[in-house]
This record gives sequence, structure tokens and C-alpha cells, in this order.
Amino acid sequence: MSDWLIPEPSRQRGNAKLPPTSPTCDPESDPGYQRLTRSLLDCSNDNIFAFDLEGRCLYANRQALELTGRPLVQLLGLKLDQILPLQDALLYCQENQQVINSGQPAVFHHTLDLAGRPREMRVLKYPLRGADNGIWGIGCVSRDVTAERAAERDQLMSETVFLHSNDAIVVADASGHLLRANPAFERLTGYGALALPGCFAQLLRPDGSPGGELEAPILEGLRLQGRWTGEAQLRTAAGAQLVVRLSVTALVDAAGNAQGYMAVISDLTEARRASDEILRLATTDSLTGLPNRTLFQDRLNQAVSQARREQQSFALLFADLDHFKEVNDTLGHAIGDELLMVIAHRLHDAVREMDTVARLGGDEFVVLLPNINRDNALELADRLVHQLHEPMVLDGTPDYRAQASVGLVMFPDDGDSAEALLRHADQAMYAAKRAGRNQLQAYTAELGHALRETYSLHQELRAALEHGQFEVHWQPKFRLRDMAVVGAEALVRWQHPRLGLLGSNDFLQVAAQHQLLGAIDTWMLQTTLRQIAAWAGQGRWPGHWRLALNQSASDLQRPDWLDQLRNLLSELGLEPSWLEIELTEAVWARPAPDLLERLQQFRDLGVAMLIDDFGTGYSSLSYLRQLPVSGVKIDQCFVRGMEEHEGDRVLVEIICELVHRLRLDLMAEGIETEQQRQYLLQLGCPLGQGFLLSGPLPLAEFESRFLPPPCVA
Ligand code: C2E
Ligand code: MG
Ligand code: MG
Repeated sequence: MSDWLIPEPSRQRGNAKLPPTSPTCDPESDPGYQRLTRSLLDCSNDNIFAFDLEGRCLYANRQALELTGRPLVQLLGLKLDQILPLQDALLYCQENQQVINSGQPAVFHHTLDLAGRPREMRVLKYPLRGADNGIWGIGCVSRDVTAERAAERDQLMSETVFLHSNDAIVVADASGHLLRANPAFERLTGYGALALPGCFAQLLRPDGSPGGELEAPILEGLRLQGRWTGEAQLRTAAGAQLVVRLSVTALVDAAGNAQGYMAVISDLTEARRASDEILRLATTDSLTGLPNRTLFQDRLNQAVSQARREQQSFALLFADLDHFKEVNDTLGHAIGDELLMVIAHRLHDAVREMDTVARLGGDEFVVLLPNINRDNALELADRLVHQLHEPMVLDGTPDYRAQASVGLVMFPDDGDSAEALLRHADQAMYAAKRAGRNQLQAYTAELGHALRETYSLHQELRAALEHGQFEVHWQPKFRLRDMAVVGAEALVRWQHPRLGLLGSNDFLQVAAQHQLLGAIDTWMLQTTLRQIAAWAGQGRWPGHWRLALNQSASDLQRPDWLDQLRNLLSELGLEPSWLEIELTEAVWARPAPDLLERLQQFRDLGVAMLIDDFGTGYSSLSYLRQLPVSGVKIDQCFVRGMEEHEGDRVLVEIICELVHRLRLDLMAEGIETEQQRQYLLQLGCPLGQGFLLSGPLPLAEFESRFLPPPCVA
């Protein structure tokens, strides 16, 4: 092959040298044969040149002429540096020389800049030898390998990506058999390249059962779009189930025939675990580990939907701890937390596996009891109240007894939506609190009605002050010894336009809940003091009588209250000693820091201060020593119980003894019988009030029955 090029001497131009010995033998000297050879060379897609030893062009085929853009007549005889840019020409010459020196063919790679398009060329150069085997020229076959090299690079890149990808990649044939898997696949599944499972599809089945078919949705995606992406469970060699993101792409040949598929698998297990953890944190109460409000709301909604669908009933309990604030305030938040955790455990242990116990916040817990009837729910809830009350160790004390007020509602009887059920359960719980705490209260239509009444009371209370619907009833206080009147307690009443005359207990709680108590007390203070001033002016209020007024602790804490009182007294010309403020004992349970100071200011003013309902609340006896109060009023429940219960008698006895020793004033309320009066007298209680003499009376009646007649000037 080395001497296939037969230059035509007639075509030679310039200084191109003829081969030292032209081939002479037939058929090569035959012009027909030479034409045939040239035609064949022109058929080639390669660029074929021949150069003499000095680099002159001796031959170029059709493809090469196209490449140089010159006709053959111009090209022949041109030297390399006349054909190529100088730098390329030098390189070419060097290469030619290398081939001449070695006498061996060699392959070179060039980049040619063809009209601004860089082309990669692979050039095979070999020596052209004459009959004597001497080299007389260089043959060049150069081929544009740009596309080929790009494909090689792509191939290399794909392979690198395949090998180094963090995602597992597998390739399967048309029947689903695994052909290849990358190292990431091995790391993820534990299947090494040599021990690949037969089919990829079997890894996607929980039981690992064999078979090449992918699941129907994946096949459908491949058929319609050529790919499918979604979440799947992947079984590892060790049998573990991973949550993965799977992207399957169909592999098709140029004719569009399915050749198999490639699957890219990213492990979501960790990400899922992290998002599960975030979800858990977002839906769990961090203190007790119980579901929080968000999760509970979700479960309640589900329970409503399911119960509606299956026409079943379920129960919802709303539990609120009694006196939890006191525990927090007196024993500290750490102990409060400890108590909440014990309660959470007790609730959790008391219910069934299917039930949900959640903490809504603070000391509020809810229990969702699916698929239960009213009787069973009541029984369970009642048991629960008792279990919560069982002794527990709290702050080192072995027998602390928690209390909870629990409201119960049933779906669908007491509410057919999550919102209504929660609201009614909450209302039932409040009813349990009002009924004395530590008990269960089931929601009833009447309860709902009463609460709606309370709600409208709240609305109407605001207008009541403006419309002058409040009035004062007066209850005389008397000396037990001779039943002589020593003053009167003023009690508020509401002449309600629809409901008639309402007692204090009917509306004061609602007023307090809606911050209206202060306004009512101010009205009472002004109205009663004006009334006393009027009576005093008529000589009907004896100088030693006292007006007793109930005021709430928040009143006393108002910065302007003392000034208001002082101004009013002086404006009306009243002695401060004519006034006695009654504060209920509950005030002393958690006295605000500046309360003592406030009380002292009242005492300094000369106003008497009485602890009302003494014995019922949480007052520590030591308060009696510390507080600047002038006296106590024994609560009527002890007075009532004195006749029948030894315990009440003993209590009253002790209170009397204590108050005497502390040199405080003492009186009793709720005296209804002569016997009670006698007992109290024996125990040394000098003053009292009660139905025995008179209940609270409207103004006119009080005036006519108990006030001295007006002095006629
Ligand atoms: P309190 O200050 O202990 O008033 C005594 C309550 O016992 C009054 O109830 C009175 O009607 C009732 N009572 C008096 N004698 C007897 C008796 O012999 N037997 C029985 N069973 N009850 C008797 P009322 O008027 O319903 O007041 C209830 C509570 O409401 C009062 O208890 C007081 O704490 C509060 N209150 C009343 N008026 C006002 C007020 O203007 N402001 C504030 N802040 N509280 C008030
Ligand atoms: Mg009172
Ligand atoms: Mg009282």
C-alpha cells in the first residue's frame, strides 16, 4: 500500500519532485487504472494528501480540496506554508520529518480552525516509498473526529458521573434484569456489582418477591412520558426498608424501541426521619410528651369525620386542674411542671390504647375517646377524676392530692363539629368548677342555655350601670347580746329588666370575668356613702354605726382608689371610722406585693378592714398577725354547721379564741337561729348579721324598720 499514489507527471507543477523511480509495471502505468484509483480515493470521506520530502503538495483528493477550499491545479506544488498558517505548517513539517526519520506511520491530532469552527482532526501520516523502498514523500489521511471525540468525552463524563454519583444508579434491560449498578447503589443497598439481584423490580417489593415487572404506575409513566418519578420503598440486601426518591427513565434506541430503563435512587430515609422529628416536635407537648393542641385538633377533626361516616358516637373530656396556679405561685414552676407530668401519666395510663390524651397548654388536658357510648364515657371520666385525686409525691410531700374539674361532651348529641364539641366541653368543665371543683360535669342543653344566659348577662351588665339598674340592699349588723343594730352591710342588687331582681351571686362572677366589678364597686361606694351622709344629715345614722362595704382586691390596688375615698369622705363630711371594708378571704391567698402597703394606708386613714368569709379560703393564720386588718367575719357555713357538726363548733371556737388573742374585731354572718346566736355568744363573738334579725332589705324597708325616725328640726 505504500506506493499506491501515482502522480501524474503532466499535472505536476512548480518544483514538485517526481518519485525517484516511477512505477512502470502494468497495470499501474495504465491510465485507466490510475483513473480508477483516483476515483476510489475521491470517494473517501477522509482528506487525503501527498507531499514530497520538501513539503510540496503532490496530491489531494476531492475531500481534501474541499477542506482547503482550492482547486487541485492551484494546490499542487504549493508548499505547506503556502497552504496552512505558518505555525501549523511548521508543525506539519516537523511531523513529516518525524515520519521520514522513523520510516514508520504515525498518528497525530490537530485542531484546525475552519471558518471560526474549531475542528479536531486525526491525521495518519506514513512514508511513501519507491520501488527501491526509499522514501520519496509523505501520505496524509486526515479525518474530522470532532463529533467522535465529543462522543468519547460524553461517554467518559457519563461514566464518571455514574461511578461517582452520590445517588444510586442502576441500568436494567427491557425485561427488567439489572445490567449495571454504580458504587453508590452498592453502598445504599449492600448489593455488590457481583451479587446484584436479578431484577430491579424485586427490590421495590416489601417481601422481595422475584419478577421483572415494575409496578403498574411506573410502567404507565414510562410508556406515556418515558419516565416516572416518585417515592418508593427499597429493600436492602439486609432486608431493611428505605424510603427513596426514584426516577426511572426509559432507554430507547434510535428507532424508538424500548431497550430497558435507568433508575436513579436517592435515599430519603434520613431526610424523612428528620422531617418526622420536626413534625413530632411541632405536634408534641415538650413537657409531657403528649400530643399538643395542633395534633389534637387534627385527631378531633378525624374523629368527627370518621364518626359521621360510620354513624358512631365518641366522647371528649376537657380537664382543667384546680388550683394549679397556686401550686406554681407557691411551690415554683419546677414543681408545677412535675405535677403536670404526673397528671399526664395518670391520664395516659387510665385510658385505652385507641384514645388520645393531649395537653392543650397550661393545666388544660383533653381526652378523646372514640367509639364509646355515654354510659361508658361517664364511667371512665368519673374514674379518671378519682384517679387524678389519688395521693402523689410532690415536692417531697407524699400525699399531695391533685384536683381536676372535668367536662364531658358526646358526639353527636352535644355538638356535631370539632369546634362546637371543644367549646361545650370547655363550658362543661367551667360548670364543674363552679359546682365546687374536683368533679365531672357532663354537658347538657340546660347548661348551654345557662351559659348563653351568662353571656347575654355580660352584654347587659355594661348597659346596666348607665341605665341605673343597680340598687343597694341593706342588711343590719347587730350586737348578739341584745340584738341592737350597730350598722349595716351594703349588698348590690340588679333590677334586671327581663329576669327581675338578681342577687349578687347571680352576676358578680360574670362582672369580675369581664372587668366590670371595679365599676360596680365604685358605684356602690359613691351611692352608699351619699346615702349615709343623707341619713346622717337627717340624724338617722347614729355616730357609732358602721357601713360595711364589699370591695374586691383589684379595687384597692387601683392607684386612685384611696384618693377617691378620701375626697368623697371629706366632701360628704363623713368620718372614716364610719366605714368598714370587707374583703373576701380569697384575696389573701395570693396577696399582690403592694397589697399590704395599700391596706396600711387605709388603716392609717382610719377605715376598718374586715376579712370576710373567714375560714373558707386559703388564708394562712400567720396573715392575721401580719395584715393590717381590724377584724374577721366568720363564714356563714360554719355558723350554719355549728348546731349539727362538732367539727364546725370546734372551728368556730378556735377562730374566736385566736381572734381574741390577736385583739381583732370579731363577728359572724348567716345567723339564722336563736341557738346559733347563743352558741356564738358563749364563744365570745359579740357581733353578727343574719336572717335571725333580718336579711338584706331594700332602702325603704331598711329605713322604716331599722333607722331611727328623722329628727324634726
Ligand atoms: P358576703 O359579703 O359574705 O355577704 C353575705 C351574703 O350572705 C349576702 O349574700 C347575704 O344576702 C347573705 N346572707 C346574709 N345573712 C344570711 C343568712 O342568715 N343566711 C343566709 N343563707 N345568707 C345570708 P349576697 O347579697 O348574695 O352576696 C353574696 C356575696 O357577694 C357577698 O358575700 C359578697 O362577697 C359579694 N358582694 C355583694 N355585694 C357586693 C359588692 O357590692 N361588691 C363586691 N365586690 N362584692 C359584693
Ligand atoms: Mg360581705
Ligand atoms: Mg361573707
